[in-house]
Amino acid sequence: MKIVTVIGARPQFIKASVVSRAFIQLNIEEIIIHTGQHHDSSMSDVFFEEMEIPKPSYFLDVHGLSHGAMTGRMLERIEEVLKEVKPNAMLVYGDTNSTLAGALAAAKLQIPVAHIEAGLRSFNRAMPEELNRILTDQLSDCLYCPSDAAIENLKQEGFFHQPKKVIKTGDVMFDAFTYYQKKAEEKSNILQVNHLRSNEYALLTLHRAENTDDENRLKEILKGIQQLAETTTIVWPVHPRLKSKLAALSFSPSVKLIEPVGYFDMIQLLQHAHIVLTDSGGLQKEAYFARKYCITLRDQTEWVELVHEKANFLTGANAQAMVNTYHQLFTKPFPAFNASLYGDGHTAEAIVKHLIENI
Ligand code: UDP
Repeated sequence: MKIVTVIGARPQFIKASVVSRAFIQLNIEEIIIHTGQHHDSSMSDVFFEEMEIPKPSYFLDVHGLSHGAMTGRMLERIEEVLKEVKPNAMLVYGDTNSTLAGALAAAKLQIPVAHIEAGLRSFNRAMPEELNRILTDQLSDCLYCPSDAAIENLKQEGFFHQPKKVIKTGDVMFDAFTYYQKKAEEKSNILQVNHLRSNEYALLTLHRAENTDDENRLKEILKGIQQLAETTTIVWPVHPRLKSKLAALSFSPSVKLIEPVGYFDMIQLLQHAHIVLTDSGGLQKEAYFARKYCITLRDQTEWVELVHEKANFLTGANAQAMVNTYHQLFTKPFPAFNASLYGDGHTAEAIVKHLIENI
């Protein structure tokens, strides 16, 4: 039994860390292809080292291209690898160009495709991620859904009338968070390095094209950040996509712009923040795992259950809404943690077992 996994972007390394460990424990041969979508040390190497992700067997070095060119080049190279390796199945994660290229290359060669984080929808087709998700789900044979909402979406799209395996598994990101929590506490010194005190700063990340590439939205979010910085410290690990855009701007000293951090530092920053502001998919859930309120700088979210739990608040790109929501949440106790949302922390093992029994 041989499984090929395609990964290429930061959140995929984090998800793969726990799934690859499950493959090793069950003695299944996994061959990892790293497409190169995120390739430098702070966006890639640090995760492989800290989280002990097995070294990729193939590194495709595809990055910095337009969506079509990137996906096309990946498709071509992944196909070559698949012809050589002849795996029993292809495993892909999430919603990036690497996900779609992996799924399409395999499906065209009649290799069964398994999709981890299947069924998520924002219902906004202007997002490149939404197109990648929809197409990848169509190409997949085993669809591993992290939430009830994901199952419901696939039901609505008729997936239960097709010969596909669609199951709710929970979220492998919850596995990663629980597995690495203690290690992060032991190993990370990010608070000391940045002179941060527990519960005295907000944690911010921003990287979605819908915000970073839209001047009006970006301006409005930056305005909200400046206003919040009048009353709190803001720690912001800056995504490479934004670095050059921010370089020309000046921020108040209470906005701490730092390089992207590794996962251990991220967990520590989350555990000690008093609130999270983000447009990241992963961070919305990690804020919940750390029992922190999340202000989501988007108009939709795929993680609707966190909005229902009143733990996640969508403000879009609206400075006033960001500031008002922040102040409303500041003194409010965090809602009771709903342990039924994302599994028991052993989702990766369940997925790997299901996969090997069903291909
Ligand atoms: N992350 C990290 N360091 C950072 C920023 C994010 O380790 O400087 C982690 C974060 O904790 C989460 C994942 O990267 O697990 C989210 O990735 P990203 O926001 O890039 O993608 P998305 O989740 O929106 O697809």
